[in-house]
Amino acid sequence: MTYQEIEQKMQELIDMGIDYEIIGTSLLGRNIYAFHVGNYGPNQMIVEGSIHAREYVAGLAVVEQIKYTNKVGVSEGGIYFIPFANPDGVALVLEGIDSVVCPKLHNYILVINNNSYDFSQWKANACGVDLNVNFDALWGGGAQNVFCPSPANFVGYFPNSEKEVLILISFTEKVSPIVTLSYHTKGEVIYYGFETLSQKLIARDRQIAEYIQSINGYVPIKTENSTGGYSDWVSQELEVPAFTIEAGSYLLPTPLPISALDDIAIKNNPVPVKTLQYVITYNKNSQQ
Ligand SMILES: [Zn+2]
Repeated sequence: MTYQEIEQKMQELIDMGIDYEIIGTSLLGRNIYAFHVGNYGPNQMIVEGSIHAREYVAGLAVVEQIKYTNKVGVSEGGIYFIPFANPDGVALVLEGIDSVVCPKLHNYILVINNNSYDFSQWKANACGVDLNVNFDALWGGGAQNVFCPSPANFVGYFPNSEKEVLILISFTEKVSPIVTLSYHTKGEVIYYGFETLSQKLIARDRQIAEYIQSINGYVPIKTENSTGGYSDWVSQELEVPAFTIEAGSYLLPTPLPISALDDIAIKNNPVPVKTLQYVITYNKNSQQ
């Protein structure tokens, strides 16, 4: 697969007449798309994918969710889908160093990649920052964190330093979602319950994670020793339910083969629309 094929998938969604906006551009100038299905106004959800470059199959799974949700419709509220939150990283994984248009960056990125031309395991953006540990949510406190540019796990020189992270933050603040999903690979688990949340809100999120389990069969796990992620930031700042879903069997290789997509789609296509309705109902019941 090439990055151009991913751009074609974005164009196909646009051609289907699905509402979209370009919420910003990556460091190297690639569009970051948000598609919208359903109603505008209150009760919005955000679904984000492929913030980790090598997990691009998660972004393809979000594309399938967009088509499915557009077909079945959303009765109440609406859903914003951001299939590829880290387009430069995904392009590096798919096309290697030639995906970087600026040749002066080639040596820098190759050094970060241990002088290897194999970018299949790259998780970061084009600066060697792992976007999903760069958010200002107990930043730098994660068990896997590293503090120099790296193919994975570099937290950045300071929290919220990366352009792609700032784009997600400003878009999320604008939308003010009632729930968010972040699609990663792999392991078939649902992470919930960031440590800054009260016990009451962790119990809320556990209940919603168990509902998601009833749809996709994945196992809910309370997040531990993970900081600086999008879900962590949403939990801390908005205190709304935020889940990191690891799609695909842990038995599969990394990156996940595209052949894994059918199974992921069958299990996860209904997750956004059903979870949004569940959270709307949950919120109504808890207000009574
Ligand atoms: Zn990931």
